Amino acid sequence: MPFYLGIDEYFLLLIIPAMIFSIAMQIMVKSAYKKQSRVRNARGITGAMAAQLVLAYYGVTGVRIEMTRGRLSDHYDPRTNTIRLSEGVYQTASVAAVGIAAHEAGHAAQHAQSYVPIKVRNAILPVCNIGSMLAVPLMLLGYWIGFFGLITLGLALYALIAVFQLVTLPVEFNASRRAMEVIDRQRLLEGSDRDGAKKVLNAAAMTYVAALIVSLANLLRFMLRFNRRR
Ligand SMILES: [Zn+2]
Repeated sequence: MPFYLGIDEYFLLLIIPAMIFSIAMQIMVKSAYKKQSRVRNARGITGAMAAQLVLAYYGVTGVRIEMTRGRLSDHYDPRTNTIRLSEGVYQTASVAAVGIAAHEAGHAAQHAQSYVPIKVRNAILPVCNIGSMLAVPLMLLGYWIGFFGLITLGLALYALIAVFQLVTLPVEFNASRRAMEVIDRQRLLEGSDRDGAKKVLNAAAMTYVAALIVSLANLLRFMLRFNRRR
């Protein structure tokens, strides 16, 4: 998508740094996961057990916990109220597994307790899905045929994607906060184990910050470009 407009000064000054930051954050989360998934936690708690404990702590019932393929593919699916944990998390008693599984269970707790940012996020999700497909084509079409209204509409749709990613931040940070609360209060992890899990969650949170920065960089570039050539 960033290549649609060719390589201009905004691509070099905005998009490239944002993308480098994003890639660096991806590398960081992968390396934190790799390191902490090798550390066995002292109490021998697997990811599946940790998810159960977090759900019990928040009094959440009726959530299924399943194993799914892939690496770092762990997620909570609100449509089916299911926590899906990757093999390395589900059945492994590592520090990383407890952190990640507890975080996903934190999302299930948000859902059960109707946490407001997750509701806002889900409400704007359908428009964002359409927006992410149409925003750039609309802007380019408006630019080519000289219809400014289309450019504005495209920019508005693209801005909505950034809003979605902004609302994602409290959702992600709150899920990790809920996870750490249970980890600390129930003493699932202690000492360096606890700090290791926190590092994995912090690194994961930074990938969401990076995604927002990439979108803002794109938005700013679109605005500057279309404004200049208007
Ligand atoms: Zn999350």
